[in-house]
Order: sequence, then structure tokens, then C-alpha cells
Amino acid sequence: TGTLFVVATPIGNLEDISARALRVLAEVSLIAAEDTRHSARLLQHFGITTPLAACHEHNERDQGGRFLSRLQAGEDVALISDAGTPLISDPGYHLVRQARAAGVRVVPLPGACALIAALSAAGLPSDRFVFEGFLPAKAAGRRTRLEQLKEEPRTLIFYEAPHRILECLMDLEAVFGAERPAVLGRELTKTFETLKGLPLAQLRAWVEADGNQRRGECVLVVGGWQAPQGDEAVDGQARRVLELLLGELP
Ligand code: SAM
Repeated sequence: TGTLFVVATPIGNLEDISARALRVLAEVSLIAAEDTRHSARLLQHFGITTPLAACHEHNERDQGGRFLSRLQAGEDVALISDAGTPLISDPGYHLVRQARAAGVRVVPLPGACALIAALSAAGLPSDRFVFEGFLPAKAAGRRTRLEQLKEEPRTLIFYEAPHRILECLMDLEAVFGAERPAVLGRELTKTFETLKGLPLAQLRAWVEADGNQRRGECVLVVGGWQAPQGDEAVDGQARRVLELLLGELP
């Protein structure tokens, strides 16, 4: 059988593609791409003429068989998405799963990934972190999700659409508190790259005051919850005991 290569492509700056990625993309029989027109431009830039076939969230499950039969016939296939690492808030999961289940070798070609780029430059604890992908688009769902994450001690990473970034920061401030440290990574690796780190209330005000900060692609890195220290901790414990006791009252 052939090999399925899972190949990371740039998240903006075309220099971020690896030498290995370029070689593999040129050598495989077929490239499965999220958006063939988008990827055609990337390949053209690098003079790669390998045929492209669509593999996006709407056809991935059905089309998986098509790629699988090519792999089983001994051909090598590369999987790419529009930007960054496939399967990271991008299609590819079903194909990789099907390939592995069929005993096809799956080889990752690591490279650009917006969440890792943001985390690596945010200056927030990076020894443990949680990637939350996109929060629910609607306010109620977003609030519910944030409530569940409020006491998460690990650094949190979110992807967000530019037209929702302000709403998202407002909800983060309301649920996590004004003082929680956060970093907004915008247009990473591109001309207008910004990495702004401020407590949530100030970051929200900064984005609110400057419409340019609501354009382009963004990642939010938010510091994890820190257990209160000293008197605050005692207050918290006392409050919890009181809440329990009150709950027991008729
Ligand atoms: N697979 C991609 C990766 O490896 O990062 C992510 C794909 S997801 C559909 C697109 C989201 O990733 C954007 O909405 C944004 O949150 C984030 N993103 C992608 N490129 C970015 C960039 N250059 N700067 C900041 N965020 C970016």
C-alpha cells in the first residue's frame, strides 16, 4: 500500500513551508486538499504540478473511499488544508482514521500551526495547555462553555473569527474576570502581525478602540485559573462551606 502524508502548509508566510513538504507534495500521485482552488495557487507558487482532489468536511466521509482505494493500489497521497496543520480545526480526521483502520501508513509532516505559533510567543505558561478550537458562535453557548472552563488551571487557547473577537473578549472578561492575563495573536507570520498581551479588561478595551484589531485571523491565549492565595483562599473556603450549609437549610 501507499503512504498518506499529512502535510502542514503556511498560515500566511509562504516561507514557512518546509523543504520536506515541498519534496513530498511534488512526489505524491495525488494531493487531497480542503479547497482545490486555494491550494492550486500555493502549488503554482512553488511550481508543483501534482493533481489535486477535494477533501473537505462535506465530502470527506464519502470521498474517503476514493483516496483509500488509490492508497491501497500503492499510490502515495498527501493531505493538506487551506492553512497550517490539517485536522487542527480543519478537515482530515475521517480520512486519517479510515486510512489507519485500513492499515495504510500515515506520516505527519509537521509545520505551521496557529495555536502553537501563538503559544510559543505569548509568554504565558506553556508547559500545559488546552486547545479549545472555536467557541460556540452564539452568545448563550459561548457563555456556557466559558463557565465550564472558568477554573481550568492550564493555559487556554481559542481560535476566533475576526467579526466575533470583541464579543468573545467581552464574554471572557465577564466570566474569567477583568484581571486574567491574555494575549491576542493576530495575522501571525503576515505583514500586520500583532501579539498583544494585557489583562482581559484592557485587551477588550484595546480591541474595542481600534477597528483594525478586529480584522484578519486571530488566536486568543488566556492564562489558566490560579487558586486564590492566603486570605482570599480562606474567604473562598468559608463561602463554599456557607453555601453548602445554606443548601441544607429547609
Ligand atoms: N489548521 C490551522 C492551523 O494549523 O492553525 C487552523 C485552521 S482554522 C479553520 C482557521 C483559524 O486558525 C482562524 O480562524 C484563526 O483563528 C487561526 N489562524 C489561522 N491562521 C492564522 C494566523 N496567521 N494568525 C492568527 N490566527 C490564525
